[in-house]
Amino acid sequence: MDPRRSLPSVDRVLRCLSGLPHALALDVAREAVEKARHQLGQGVEVSGEAVIEDARRRVGQVSRGLLQPVINATGVLLHTNLGRAPISAAALEAACKVGEGYSNLEFRLEEGARGSRRDHAGPALARACGAESALVVNNNAGAVLLVLAGLARGRQVVVSRGELVEIGGGFRIPDVMAESGARLVEVGTTNRTRARDYAAAVTPETALLLKVHPSNYRMIGFVEQARVDQLASLGAPVVVDAGSGLLDESTPWLSRRPTWLGDELGVRQCLEHGAALVTFSGDKLLGGPQAGVIAGRADLVEQLARHPLARALRPDKMTLAALEATVFAYLDGDAAQIPFWRLATVPLEELVARAGAIAAEVPGTEVVRTEAAAGGGSLPGLTIPSAGVAVGGLAATAPEMVAAAVLRELRGRRVVGRTEGGLAVLDLRSVEERSDRVLVEALASLPGRRD
Ligand SMILES: *Cc1c(COP(=O)(O)O)cnc(C)c1O
Repeated sequence: MDPRRSLPSVDRVLRCLSGLPHALALDVAREAVEKARHQLGQGVEVSGEAVIEDARRRVGQVSRGLLQPVINATGVLLHTNLGRAPISAAALEAACKVGEGYSNLEFRLEEGARGSRRDHAGPALARACGAESALVVNNNAGAVLLVLAGLARGRQVVVSRGELVEIGGGFRIPDVMAESGARLVEVGTTNRTRARDYAAAVTPETALLLKVHPSNYRMIGFVEQARVDQLASLGAPVVVDAGSGLLDESTPWLSRRPTWLGDELGVRQCLEHGAALVTFSGDKLLGGPQAGVIAGRADLVEQLARHPLARALRPDKMTLAALEATVFAYLDGDAAQIPFWRLATVPLEELVARAGAIAAEVPGTEVVRTEAAAGGGSLPGLTIPSAGVAVGGLAATAPEMVAAAVLRELRGRRVVGRTEGGLAVLDLRSVEERSDRVLVEALASLPGRRD
């Protein structure tokens, strides 16, 4: 008899699988049976059980790749790979309400006439940062592209050589400039650029002076960059790509300005110092959904809103709802409730106490002091004092489990940590207290433990 006849049917394998939509489970079952057939054809013995086991393993693999929540115990609060800012309950509720039914997205209820998407979130943002007007787009990379394409296509944009940066994910200022059709004019040197370098480069061909926040690195030593107020008088509009989206550097929504903010520029202050436009992300220090904001002079914002690219970059209704609710928290002086600010300002003693409670429950772990970071391309080089739990003792009970293996095991439980001093560490700065139980369970279930 053909040994292949003894293999379970695809249907039979399929009946043993759960957790995926039928069509995807069917693909998995077919792959597993196909592989077993192939192996039998080569004279390798395969049991029916092994085929089902293989299919289940494949389901696990597919499931783990699906978009799902994780616990961010890296201590990097705005971790781009982990979805940047968590969104506030109020913002989520607003997005849900607008998303589950119809809305007045582009409709004026009063007149029963067509309205504009721009009526949402933009005005609140403008109010919150002291701008004449604000336009919301899909993300800040889109905001920068729109500004350059809309205001400088075929003309010159002056940028300091110290600010020709790559933000990450391949977003490089010279490339975006080329893509927009604007012509880059480099001035100054890598470490020092003065206002007079810009002044010397301004011609009738100059469309904009662009300042780019060096969002993911910091230059120290013999360095100098021209300030916004020095550039504002040179004749061409000054655009600041602030990136991080700190609405106001005096953080009036917190009882005290955190020292780890360093000298981070606020959007409001850039505008006060004479920037014509400021662009920033919605999901960095603003603490909202993914979005890009262009705030500043009403005439320029209007011109950008009418550009064809604006249509291609327009934000979704749920984004606008969540963004507006996020900004309302700032307007209420209540932004301390926004998850980013709440997590970032939890007193260190609280984190130490929580780490102690976790470590007390899981033998072989210990409390460690750590340095967390805002991340997401903001506040480079500045750290937030933090505490966490290190999986040190485990190495002794299971020497084969080095830190990397511990972290891999934890990731299997959807907990993402980091290594520090050769140890696997779960940093509590980026963990909501309600998730501490999950950490305890994940740590307690690590293999190779002896209780
Ligand atoms: C983060 C950042 C960007 C890109 O913003 P996204 O919202 O991720 O598209 C651009 N410029 C600066 C300075 C940034 O910090």
